[in-house]
Amino acid sequence: MKMGPIFAIAGFIILLTFFRGGIEAATKGSYLVPFDEIPVRFTDAMFVGIVIFILCWIIELRYPRPLDPNKEPTLVCPKCEKVKEWDGMLPCKCGGHFEDIQTMKWMDG
Ligand SMILES: [Zn+2]
Repeated sequence: MKMGPIFAIAGFIILLTFFRGGIEAATKGSYLVPFDEIPVRFTDAMFVGIVIFILCWIIELRYPRPLDPNKEPTLVCPKCEKVKEWDGMLPCKCGGHFEDIQTMKWMDG
């Protein structure tokens, strides 16, 4: 998982711990959570945060991003079918050329 969602969830936990939302703030008369309520709020917020984290994790496992732009492409040589990680070298030892496996057009029979 990328760090973005983790920071978002951490921010959400901090927000829930120290600040009240709309209706709650209106009825209690303050947006700030009193000191003695913080441990309870923090426990609740952590629980919600962990649930969100697990949901994000499951979604990421079920629907992996098909093309990660940060990841170097995997190369395949169509002539000898050798596969290698991107290392900047395109010519293959067999005389063929490595191509990006994602953009390569497969020939049917
Ligand atoms: Zn080759």
